[in-house]
Amino acid sequence: MDRRSVLKKTLTAGAAAGAATLAAPAFAQSKIEWRMVTTWPKNFPGLGVGAENLAKRINTMSGGRLTIKVYSGGELVPPLQALDAVISGAAEMSHGAAYYWQNKNVGLSFFTGVPYGMTSREHAAWVRYLGGQEIWDEIYDQFGVQGFLSGDTGTQAGGWFRKELKSLDDIKGLRFRTPGLGGQVWQKLGASVTNLPAGQIFQALQAGTLDAAEFVGPYNDLALGFYQIAKNYYFPSFIEPGLATEAVVSKSKFKALPADLQEIVRTACQAEYDQVASDMYANDPRALQTLVDKHGVKVHQFPDVILEAGAKASVEVLTAVRNSDNALAKKTAESFIAALNLLRTRAESTDTPYLRAREKFFTLK
Ligand code: CA
Repeated sequence: MDRRSVLKKTLTAGAAAGAATLAAPAFAQSKIEWRMVTTWPKNFPGLGVGAENLAKRINTMSGGRLTIKVYSGGELVPPLQALDAVISGAAEMSHGAAYYWQNKNVGLSFFTGVPYGMTSREHAAWVRYLGGQEIWDEIYDQFGVQGFLSGDTGTQAGGWFRKELKSLDDIKGLRFRTPGLGGQVWQKLGASVTNLPAGQIFQALQAGTLDAAEFVGPYNDLALGFYQIAKNYYFPSFIEPGLATEAVVSKSKFKALPADLQEIVRTACQAEYDQVASDMYANDPRALQTLVDKHGVKVHQFPDVILEAGAKASVEVLTAVRNSDNALAKKTAESFIAALNLLRTRAESTDTPYLRAREKFFTLK
């Protein structure tokens, strides 16, 4: 018998003895099942698929010790009650967007996307390196949950409009679906704003209770079929220049996990954040081509008069949060604005000039 088989024999004997003395319960306890409720429709491209892939990643990385069962919006709880489900213990985890919960604390909006705020890269830099995550944790501590970035759409499309937008007058009274602080900006521009989850927007457009809607960008919006109702597609979204999704976990359930499973959840979120961003970047331009070539969608840039008024309204909205009595929202806004003013120096000296130069001078077919 060589050394290896002796070792093997010893280990097998040890394992058998261990199994006999420790018995089954210890093993059974190490299999943990979590429910993840989401704000997304089933098989929803980009964001919804990101939630499903996050679950698969955690299942695989943990070797099945932590398995996540995903529920699309409405399956276990209505989409916009996903966070409440985690707070109440009806689910251990949720996947959605922090700004859906701005009624709990307006500071949460900053962890999704902010009007005239950060692009995706800037946003991740703030959350990970410039103090964002710590404030986010402070806000969610009050609810017994913990948030992680879990995906990002990149700069979004501005929205779908039945009629072309020539001036600010065209916005007055427009019934527009758009959430978060961006919704407040459009409200200031004269629109009548509501938020609806992804799965209900098409119906509202079709029924005529909405005149216009924005959701994400070509990849998601093609799937939702908005082009069937409104043909004018405006770019870019000045209210959502970057938009992060979140995965939220129950803090007590998360803390009860062994350290390696905690790290798996954290790392899987980070990996899926990156994967979703690439998915959107790769598929948005293809979807836009389909929208234009097959569905006769007209692509427009917002006129400057709307971009400028949007910027002014954004300053007002962000200033109001910074000056509010809500200490954590104020702290969030202050941190965000300071980081934005740092990060924009990089964008304005490097990224923007490069993109301008490429657009102006470079062609290679
Ligand atoms: Ca949006």
